[in-house]
Amino acid sequence: MLSDFSFEEMKEYVVKLGLPAFRGEQIFNAIYSGKTLEEITNIPKALKEIIKDDYPNYKILKKFVSRDGTQKFIIEFGDGNIVESVLMKYKYGYTVCLSSQVGCRMGCKFCASTLNGLARNLSSGEILGQLLLINREIGGSEKNRQITNIVLMGSGEPLDNFENVCKFIDMISSSRGLNISQRNISLSTCGLVDKIELLAEKRYNISLTISLHATLDEKRAEVMPIANRYKISEIIEGCKNYYQKTKRRIYFEYTLIKGVNDANDDAVRLSKLLKNLNAHVNIIPLNEVKERDLKGTTRLEAYKFADLLKSYGVSATVRRTMGEDIAGACGQLRNKIIKDANKK
Ligand code: SAH
Repeated sequence: MLSDFSFEEMKEYVVKLGLPAFRGEQIFNAIYSGKTLEEITNIPKALKEIIKDDYPNYKILKKFVSRDGTQKFIIEFGDGNIVESVLMKYKYGYTVCLSSQVGCRMGCKFCASTLNGLARNLSSGEILGQLLLINREIGGSEKNRQITNIVLMGSGEPLDNFENVCKFIDMISSSRGLNISQRNISLSTCGLVDKIELLAEKRYNISLTISLHATLDEKRAEVMPIANRYKISEIIEGCKNYYQKTKRRIYFEYTLIKGVNDANDDAVRLSKLLKNLNAHVNIIPLNEVKERDLKGTTRLEAYKFADLLKSYGVSATVRRTMGEDIAGACGQLRNKIIKDANKK
């Protein structure tokens, strides 16, 4: 698909077709403006005919607006697969939460993205496409970027789709690709240690977020199968190396699940694990997924957990939950759409 190409690759592509390089720039600009092929007015019909099978055909299938202003989009790709992407408005601008895979194979018990397993990886251009469609939807274009921040925290495990996610980061942060600062990009992972090592080699200025969610390996394995592969101690070691190489502060996600990881002892252990790591912990009460019988804590309990962490010298905040009335947590909306479609 043509949205997989960088600016240079697009020019090479048209030159190979025997056309002048500026045609590549025109196609590139049209894609970054979120235009459909039909909407392009400055390239000849014959060229449209040549590129039509490769021109991006992803589209916004549905849009849901939450009472708090959060918007959730269901985006459909050419093969009929759908993902969800979320737009959140903060004081400093718009943040978009993107999916990196269709479904997920990590199997976390609390997460709706994983209920149907992994369908397939998204290409770099499909990850990008979510952003370009939403940018256009809120009045942006290739020259007028509305979105300031990106979080790779939608469905999928970004580091399980390593090459495509890295290419996406390269493309979106390049001066010819919306020029979004790497400092404004967060990547969240359940902790694939070997991939964290590879990511460190890229020397990106992105923020790395680790979904830890437990302080004991046995407890972690109860809710996150990946814990059978990597120990918490290995993840922390990987983070230390990552920090040494990139000097970027590391963030930890800690979803509070009642009776699983919310004890005072957990806060004590977590503070010990994170000692000497310039880390910040984001705490969020579980957003309950009805297919699973895990329960969240109250927000008050979350604040208490955060206070306890802070009393042990760990920087921590309770995350705002957004879009709860529109199936806010990862993968919930996609599942609902798939289920509703199956009912018909
Ligand atoms: N696979 C990546 C990114 C996707 S999930 C990862 O594991 O980090 C983004 C974050 O939302 C993760 O921290 C994930 O554990 C969390 N999450 C998923 N489902 C949730 C739910 N129902 N309630 C609260 N947090 C959830």
